[in-house]
Amino acid sequence: MKLICIGRNYADHIAELNNAKPEHPVVFIKPDSALLPKKMPFVIPSFSNDIHHEVEVLVKINRLGKHIDRKFAHKYYDEVGLGIDFTARDVQNELKQKGLPWEKAKSFDGAAVIGDWISKDDIRDIDDLSFSLTINGKIVQQGRSSHMLWKIDELIAYVSQFFTLKIGDIIFTGTPAGVGPVVSGDQLVGELEGHQLFSLKIK
Ligand code: ZN
Repeated sequence: MKLICIGRNYADHIAELNNAKPEHPVVFIKPDSALLPKKMPFVIPSFSNDIHHEVEVLVKINRLGKHIDRKFAHKYYDEVGLGIDFTARDVQNELKQKGLPWEKAKSFDGAAVIGDWISKDDIRDIDDLSFSLTINGKIVQQGRSSHMLWKIDELIAYVSQFFTLKIGDIIFTGTPAGVGPVVSGDQLVGELEGHQLFSLKIK
């Protein structure tokens, strides 16, 4: 399975990193080796001194598809979740400056946290999900999927032009403002629509 990640999907996060607003969604991929095994702590890698959390709404693909029309995109998932796109910001900034790909900054082992899933049937409005990330009891990121520049169904239509979506693939839909560093000892908790979907220790 693959993890398809969207960058710059919230205007407030684009502003905080001084990025330009993209004409199309920014897309990158994490391999399955980036998945942090369930219940394991996130270990800060030796090659970075600035690991940032990015909390993101996740969508799990439930059928094979390519060139999916936006109006049928809702048929390609029946669960949504919450995760973290861990980013070695120092490494990413260096790669960005040189115009190089981001994999070393975003696709390393453990860089993808995936929490529990919620059935779409239990969601009132998929385009107005509320979610948050708390560190040591303090809210650091808060978002609503209504603020996405490209909504979930648009993202599925867009990425499926390039990549065949397979059962079990997961889309990371981008992070809102409030990204920042994690340090050893931090406890991160993610909530979506009032449900706690992950709790994670940083080592
Ligand atoms: Zn991200």
